[in-house]
Amino acid sequence: MATASFRSGAVGRGGVKADTITNRTSSINSAPKSSFKSKSSAPPQNSGLRRNSTGSVATSTKERGGVSGRVRVAVRLRPRNAEEMVADTDFADCVELQPELKRLNLRRNNWDTDTYEFDEVLTEFASQKRVYEAVAKPVVENVLDGYNGTVMAYGQTGTGKTYTLGRLGEEDTADRGIMLYMESIQDLLDPANGNVSIVEDPKTGDISLPGATVMEIRDQKSFLDLLQLGEAHRIAANTILNTESSRSHAILMVHVKRSVKGRDSALSTEHGPSHLAKTFKQPVVRRSKLAVVDLAGSERISKSGSEAHTLEEAKSINLSLTALGKCINALAENSNHVPVRDSKLTRLLRDSFGGTARTSLVITIGPSPRHRGETASTIMFGKRAMKVENMLKTKEEFDYKGLSRRLDIQLDKLIAEHESQQKAFQDEIERIAQEAQKRISEAERNHDVLLESERMKYEKEYLDAIQKLEQQWETSQGKHEKVGVNDSNNTEKFNQEPNDLGVTEDIAEIKRLLQNETLLRKAAEEEISDLKNQIAQWQRSEAVRSTEILKLQKMLEDETRKKKRLEEQITILQNQLLQSNFEVDEARRNLDGGGTTELPSDLDSPLPLICQQLRDSEEEKASMEKLFEQVGLQKILSLLESEDADVRIHAVKVLANLAAEVTNQVKIVKAGGLTSLLAILRSSSDETIHRVAAGALANLAMNETNQELIMSQGGIRLLSVTATNAQDPQTLRMVAGAIANLCGNDKLQIKLRGEGGIRALVGMVKCKHPDVLAQVARGIANFAKCESRAYIQGTKSGKSLLIEDGAMPWIIQNASNEASHIRRHIELALCHIAQHEVNAKDMISGGALWELVRISRNCSREDIRTLAYHTLTSSKSFQAELKRLRVDYG
Ligand code: ADP
Ligand code: MG
Repeated sequence: MATASFRSGAVGRGGVKADTITNRTSSINSAPKSSFKSKSSAPPQNSGLRRNSTGSVATSTKERGGVSGRVRVAVRLRPRNAEEMVADTDFADCVELQPELKRLNLRRNNWDTDTYEFDEVLTEFASQKRVYEAVAKPVVENVLDGYNGTVMAYGQTGTGKTYTLGRLGEEDTADRGIMLYMESIQDLLDPANGNVSIVEDPKTGDISLPGATVMEIRDQKSFLDLLQLGEAHRIAANTILNTESSRSHAILMVHVKRSVKGRDSALSTEHGPSHLAKTFKQPVVRRSKLAVVDLAGSERISKSGSEAHTLEEAKSINLSLTALGKCINALAENSNHVPVRDSKLTRLLRDSFGGTARTSLVITIGPSPRHRGETASTIMFGKRAMKVENMLKTKEEFDYKGLSRRLDIQLDKLIAEHESQQKAFQDEIERIAQEAQKRISEAERNHDVLLESERMKYEKEYLDAIQKLEQQWETSQGKHEKVGVNDSNNTEKFNQEPNDLGVTEDIAEIKRLLQNETLLRKAAEEEISDLKNQIAQWQRSEAVRSTEILKLQKMLEDETRKKKRLEEQITILQNQLLQSNFEVDEARRNLDGGGTTELPSDLDSPLPLICQQLRDSEEEKASMEKLFEQVGLQKILSLLESEDADVRIHAVKVLANLAAEVTNQVKIVKAGGLTSLLAILRSSSDETIHRVAAGALANLAMNETNQELIMSQGGIRLLSVTATNAQDPQTLRMVAGAIANLCGNDKLQIKLRGEGGIRALVGMVKCKHPDVLAQVARGIANFAKCESRAYIQGTKSGKSLLIEDGAMPWIIQNASNEASHIRRHIELALCHIAQHEVNAKDMISGGALWELVRISRNCSREDIRTLAYHTLTSSKSFQAELKRLRVDYG
């Protein structure tokens, strides 16, 4: 009975910590955790022949120099079990081990033994820990260093394969699994997922199972849970299929991703001014995977079919194990053909034998002489596997996400630093201003108080003086009156003397008072001038403070300028990052798609020329959009006018990149991006800028409103000039693509042709590059379609402008172009042009009639075939010509 049930799995494609893996792995082998010290040991060197492994590598990925590494083979002997103890008591074991010589002697008969040497010979007393250290530990350490690794067990059922590798998913390790039953793979983490297909990267040869569930390991417990789930599903599946694990292959696959820091940046030299980028160490991630393979019992090869299983099952089990044996034979003999594709098992394990992985094989045997045949064939399998040479390699990729994260953090730090500086300056200025204000108002107050008290003092003194004078005056008046009464008649002269004396005294007194007054006044004036001096002094110190404030303000301005510069640099860096992401994607896409873009089969759909499938994943798209938001469209547009040519190129690439997303197109046009693109196309003489700007225009030209804008801003003339000067076929492809999009607009037909659009398009066929020809053909088909609509609507009656502008000879020449997408466009164009009798004469003389006949008979697309037939049968001119030539048609 032969049933191939097959389990494999992949755990944690991203972010699995190496130590998590080590712990898990150690428990598979029941070895103490301490045995997994991660040290960076180089893979062991081995001399000898090796098989070629896969070749080319993606540009974003680096394979580091390979090291040859032979498949290591250990043999493990199971102790006699209870049954053997009884049944074989009278017989000697068929094998004898000499572990210190790494030798195994297989008894041929009572006299003869054959001796075999292995890399390790593990007796029935070998502990699990010892087995782990001999077989798995070197592989696990290599996996942690970034190499792929395989640990595999091969042997007859019941000899201890599963015992050696660990009972997956019980308290020990396994992973998420996949069940293969008769060459079909079942996802054990999602049992409904019943037929997972294997995908092979055409460039790198990497095998993956994209349909299988992938789960990230957070910690040891989550890993264990996952293993138990997989194991439960495996048991359930085995029950349902009425199989046992001995008839299934089980594969545990653990993916490890590890960041490696500190290598110098290559980004700086490739993507922009080095002074900006050199501060960044290039973050690198290494990816590797560990496969633990528990094969089906090897006796199935010979015995399958002899049991009561169906023929199909027998074939399947034979298929995968036999295929594995054949591959190992071919590799061991260095044969030219290794039949890797014969089974899913060998496809999945392609990297393990003759690939880049470090592989350890443990062959398990039992002691019983009754199974001598099986034991011998297991030993032969092991010996052959020892001859297989692998070429160990690591793979490194730039960690763009990590770089982006670090840039974000740096940006935040700079902004925070700047803000706190700015705040400190403002506080200081405010403090000084407040202090000054306080001192000024204090001085003013003091001054007022002093003035007021002086004024009051003088007023009082003045009033006192006046009062005194009045009193004196009154006293002297009274004396005069008395003298007059006593002797009023004749003693005037006599009496005058004392009177005169009094007045003189008064005057003297007044004079004295006046003098006093003058002195006081003088003192007051001095006081005032003193105060004025004080004020002047305050004003001077105030001026000093103002200069200080000015100085501080200047410093603040300097800081602001510095901040602006930093922000600009950050913008440029972000642009570079955006561009790098884009280039990586482009490179990856080129590699995936073999470098050419296939046209969509729908001929009417406009062709997005660049980076249409730009974002592979939602996550990357989100990060791109985030950068776009941070950098800001206006800034990108302003960078188009930068002094620095590199910055300009980057900016236009970023813009083109954004223009590939329909959602961004509206924003770009609204922000004036279309005008900027035309301007840079007009002003720049750099071919890269021409290529990228034309690509961006082509994308924007997918929309009708934009088509009109491009036309009204002289876009056609500009594109024609660009085409004339272009050297690079890709520039021509972009220009042709842009014009082709414009050709599909009914309203723009006359203007487009009037400004030389058709001549420019036809002129580009000089460059024979198929990408360019495809765009030209698409443009012609678009134009012809619009014309035929115009004929039908009655808005056009004259000859086709395509004929007028000399496109017909090229059309006919390419009507049977071997590239199917070019041919389809041309065929469609011919049918459209033939819609109106007015074109018939030119078409007949040019040879288009025969092409139409051919299309109506041979074209693989039924709709075009029918259109051609209908056109031929309904045109009088064509019918007449066919009749004249005696061609029986219709
Ligand atoms: P296989 O996976 O090759 O079919 P198992 O691992 O299931 O074999 O082993 C069969 C039986 O033998 C199990 O009961 C297992 O516990 C026992 N066994 C295998 N190898 C050893 C060993 N080295 N020491 C003790 N018991 C063993
Ligand atoms: Mg088993």
